[in-house]
Amino acid sequence: MKTKIASISKDCVACGCCVRACSLNAISVHKGKYAVVSDKCVGCGKCAYICPADAIEVDKITACKVKQKHLYDFLWVGELLYIALGFFNILFAWLGLIFMMTPLFMAIIGGNKSYCRKYCGKGQLFGLVGSKLSLKLKPPRFLRSKWFRSCFLTFFMTMFALMLYSVVRVFGGAELSETITLLWAFKLPWNWAALSFVPTWVAQFAFGFYGTMLTSTILGITTMVLFRPRTFCVYCPMGTMTQGICRLKKS
Ligand code: SF4
Ligand code: SF4
Repeated sequence: MKTKIASISKDCVACGCCVRACSLNAISVHKGKYAVVSDKCVGCGKCAYICPADAIEVDKITACKVKQKHLYDFLWVGELLYIALGFFNILFAWLGLIFMMTPLFMAIIGGNKSYCRKYCGKGQLFGLVGSKLSLKLKPPRFLRSKWFRSCFLTFFMTMFALMLYSVVRVFGGAELSETITLLWAFKLPWNWAALSFVPTWVAQFAFGFYGTMLTSTILGITTMVLFRPRTFCVYCPMGTMTQGICRLKKS
């Protein structure tokens, strides 16, 4: 039997970046839990090069064909458009719910992480821009540790819940805050939005949600530049959540 040339360590976080990179479909994410290599592997090393958790070792690097592009490989355009539309009118921030709910539905219904490996425009964007701008250093080990990923998810969800609480307060009559909060600390005035035709709580959610989306983009860009292009995929709260859902579903 042919020996697999790439091997995956227990550090795998099932982000699916390697699946996208492999032109031979020799690697897959098993039930949304961890990556596995088949004997189609020829040892080109593309998966090891892209893996943000540094979880792949390849015995022998050999040349391999270029991966064929699919329509879903261009979803990064949607991510760029989303960011741009927010500057045009903050109410477009509501569209971001699609990016948040789709991976959850796919994990709950399908029990897999196909959103991460195929349809995540943000991850694609980091991969694309990072191929030019990233320093491509090994990401620090703590980023892929369970405690860090769980703590970051808890922190992220707590901040999200606080954001929702401010929406409830505005619904109850509190004043609308026309600011975008970046990195959960820095308030950026955003007074040019046309909001007169919607209830104030709808606008408040848009401000809060757009700030959350921009914050994750800033974090992703920072780790993209410092480490591997898709380092954000290791600690992305949606990725951690969908991996947890897949584990629960399959256990
Ligand atoms: S962490 Fe991601 S890129 Fe690395 S082996 Fe696991 S699924 Fe593949
Ligand atoms: S080494 Fe190359 S062929 Fe083997 S799994 Fe990784 S990307 Fe695919």
